[in-house]
Amino acid sequence: MNPDRIEAAITPQTTAIMPVHCYGHPCDVDKIQKIADNYNLRVIYDAAHAFGVRDDGGSILRHGDLSVLSFHATKVFNTFEGGAIICPDAKTKQRIDHLKNFGFVNETTVVAPGINGKMSEINAALGLLQLKRIDGILLKRREIDELYRQLLEGIPGIQCLSDAGEKVANYAYFPILVKDPYPVSRDELYERLKSAGVFARRYFYPLISDFPMYRGLHTAQKSNLPVASEAAEKVICLPMHPGLTNEQIHHVVQVVIGCEG
Ligand SMILES: *Cc1c(COP(=O)(O)O)cnc(C)c1O
Repeated sequence: MNPDRIEAAITPQTTAIMPVHCYGHPCDVDKIQKIADNYNLRVIYDAAHAFGVRDDGGSILRHGDLSVLSFHATKVFNTFEGGAIICPDAKTKQRIDHLKNFGFVNETTVVAPGINGKMSEINAALGLLQLKRIDGILLKRREIDELYRQLLEGIPGIQCLSDAGEKVANYAYFPILVKDPYPVSRDELYERLKSAGVFARRYFYPLISDFPMYRGLHTAQKSNLPVASEAAEKVICLPMHPGLTNEQIHHVVQVVIGCEG
């Protein structure tokens, strides 16, 4: 989310700003908070990618009114399925605790129409085991990130995203942009990787605004979303997980280089 474009999008109906710490790269939290304060809006961060991400003052998750993490199996820290909501005070936490348990306060008192958003013990147990290994996992991811960057350097038309720096990043993903003068399209590269047994992902593609239930909306028009549309056509995320071997990384890069002809 480009903070310079937020104000123009605020209407009398706006109640909150919902930025995404995309790929674990922190949003401009100070600028966003300033705008929220000016317009009396809440800030709810989609922090699905941001487990372990920090800034100078500590965890990035302390910003905004809420930060929502995903612990899905594809994330840096996972419990198979699950997540967490980070909030700044005990009162908000209590409200969330009620809502995630059908609105129950006790056996006979229900304060709101809640949902079943509880985490099961099995999921939590997996998470606790993972927590013991998380430092090693983040370190391994950093090494993989470094090797990818080194091997991909100088390939015309392949652009790595800027490194957020080891103090900040969690190396959740390894996105690259496929652009001119790279000789084949992003989709062709995706297919060639697949043929070579490498399952890369096009995050985020298709855009949500292209799905049938949204594409009729005025706000979903492509002309309103030039940056997202361009990113959706050029981004490919290369395999990134702590079990990746140097051999496998070289194999991935060989396919990327192979397309150069
Ligand atoms: C994974 C993801 C979600 C959804 O998380 P779930 O745990 O599957 O609900 C939301 N936002 C982003 C940016 C994600 O990557």
